[in-house]
Parts: sequence; structure tokens; C-alpha cells
Amino acid sequence: MRALVWNGVNDLAVETVPDPHVVNPRDVVLEVSLTTTCGSDLHFIDGYLPGMRKGDVFGHEFTGTIVEVGPEVRDRKVGDRVVVPSFIACGNCWYCDRQLYSLCDTTNPNAAAQQPLLGYPSGGIYGYTHPFGGYAGSHAQFVRVPFGDVNCFPVPEAVDDLSALFVSDAVPTGFMGADFCDISPGDTVAVFGAGAVGLMAAAGAKILGAERVIVLDRLPERLAAARDHVGAETVDYSDVDSVQEALREATGGRGPDAVVEAVGMEGHGTGLQNVVDRAKQAVRAETDRATPLREAVLACRKGGVVALLGVYGLTDSFPTGVVLNKGLTIRAAQQHGQRYVPRLLHHLAAGELQTSFLATHRMPLEDAVEGYRIFKEKEDGCLRAVFSPS
Ligand SMILES: [Zn+2]
Ligand SMILES: [Zn+2]
Repeated sequence: MRALVWNGVNDLAVETVPDPHVVNPRDVVLEVSLTTTCGSDLHFIDGYLPGMRKGDVFGHEFTGTIVEVGPEVRDRKVGDRVVVPSFIACGNCWYCDRQLYSLCDTTNPNAAAQQPLLGYPSGGIYGYTHPFGGYAGSHAQFVRVPFGDVNCFPVPEAVDDLSALFVSDAVPTGFMGADFCDISPGDTVAVFGAGAVGLMAAAGAKILGAERVIVLDRLPERLAAARDHVGAETVDYSDVDSVQEALREATGGRGPDAVVEAVGMEGHGTGLQNVVDRAKQAVRAETDRATPLREAVLACRKGGVVALLGVYGLTDSFPTGVVLNKGLTIRAAQQHGQRYVPRLLHHLAAGELQTSFLATHRMPLEDAVEGYRIFKEKEDGCLRAVFSPS
């Protein structure tokens, strides 16, 4: 089959690789109909995140049709049109029992590689670095999905492939961030970053009853998407002297009740601290530029919630004392998609959620290298580049 592979730092290619097959009795194999770029891929493409090997097929946000099922798959069958969350859950372990699916204790065969850094390993993910399991990814004609009954969610007829695609990763990640905010009527939620995840966090905050949702970014087309497709208020942070001041002013002096940080370590910031961060990151003295995270902590009202969705590695200059003195709650996770996907498909089918506008660029899988370039450069208003493998 054809697949997009990682051959080295900033070295991607579409190549012919072996087809996947059922390996374990609960596996299914999916013919991928659509698969899309994610900002977290840029971390290993750029070489900031180690653990990729030459020839790895990557990609973890996808939808498709089941073409092969293992002998112990009970609820899914060949021909089912399904969407699959990017983290792989077993459905049986202590963590899966508590709906903490991305922390699944069973699905990461390379757990030992994560142990020194995390203390306890995360679950496995498709098409990511080997410490996350080393599973083949979805930028391919076919992909193997372990525990098919747990991880494949049938897409209702009323939901088209393109809308369903983002329920794999961007939508549940963003929605989970909004869920973390414990929204009460009258609440104001600020969302840092209007990429796909941030936009879906904003949409989720609306669905969960926030009175006001304020989205911050520096790209006019992303801010326009937040206004036009989500109905959020927007702030161009490159236009203001201080994000904290702008949010204080917008909220009658108190600050937002919750802040969702959906930018991560490659975020652009402003001001002196950002210059220091960039200099340190350039010489690898700091792995992350944590400007958005720090600003989220500073901007949130006292006693509020900061929901952390952006991907960071090791961060220095984290304002621990600010968190303590302001009585903040910080909640973070990789997406527990299996918890949210049925509800999100329902919102899509009912017309309460729009996702297809995230697909600003569509192309055949053969053009995926160019797709990643456009995505990385945010060229031409790119939110997501979507690939069709066949
Ligand atoms: Zn992702
Ligand atoms: Zn599990």
C-alpha cells in the first residue's frame, strides 16, 4: 500500500510499504477514507521529540471502513464506517474502567521507554514516536486498529466522512478541554490558540453552556473562523500589549473563569520572556517555549481552572507559586476520546456542532509531503490538510 513515512528530521516521503493485517484476535483493519495532519506531528517532524525510526508510517487522526476483523471482534463487522480516537484503549484495564483511556495500561508495548520520564507510561497512539507504542499510523491506505470493539465508533448516516474525521482527535481533545473547565451558567472561557483543537475547545465550551467564549490567536483567518463557525469573541494577541490586561478588561476586571491552553511548545508569544524562551530553545537549553502556558496561568481568574491541551515536554520557568497563590486548578490530559466520541457524533448528527470547516486543504495522499509543508507554514489559512489515500 502507499503511505506517508518519516525518514528523518524534516524528511518525509510517500512510499510503498507492506499492508497491515489482523495480528491479535481483537484487531480490525480499516481502509482509510480520510486522514489529516495534527500539530503534534510537527514535534517529531522538526526533531524536537525523539523516538521516530526511518520508515515509520505516521498520522493519528482518521476515519474509514472496516475491511478485516479478527476472530474475537464481536460488535464491529466488515463494511462498518467508523471513526477511531487517536489513543488506543483496551477497554478492560484499571484506567479504561475509569474512562481515562489515553492512560490505558495495556496498549503501549514500549512502556519501559516512557517510565523514566513519566513515572508511569501512557497508552499507545497510532503513528507516533516509539515511546508511545510504535504503532503504524493512518497516513496510509490501510491501518490496523487494536481492540476494534473498543476503538471503532460507527458513524451515523447523517454525518459525512469529512465531519466525522475530526472526531478522531481535534474535536474530543478540544471538547475534553472545555469539559475540564467545569462550566457553570454565566462563565467566561478563554481559549488560547485557534488551531483545530482550540476552535473545538471553543465550540465545546459553547455546547457546555459558557456564556462567553473568547478565543486568542494572531492569525486573522483563524480568528475569523472562531467568530464565523463557533460564534466566539476574538482577541488578536499580537495587537495587545498584555494578554492578561486584555482579558481582565474584557471580563470586568476579574479575568476568565477558565482558560484552555491549546497552543503547546511551538507557540508564538510576545514580549521579553518569549525572546528569552526562543533563545534557550534554539540552543536546546530548554526543550519548550512555555509562553502560552505561563500566560494562561497569569490570565485566569483566582480560583479558576487552566485546562492544558497543548503538547509540552519538559518546561522550565513554570509559575508554580502563581498556581498556588491564585488557588488555580490545572487539568491536563491527552484526549480520552472514547469517553466523548458517541456524544460528539450525536451533536454532529443533530447539527449542533460544525467540524468540516477545519478541512481548509484537501489532497490525495500522494501529495501529503506538500500538505505538511502548507500545514506547518499555516499557508493560505491552513487549519488542517486532509489526505485521501484512494
Ligand atoms: Zn493529534
Ligand atoms: Zn486499558
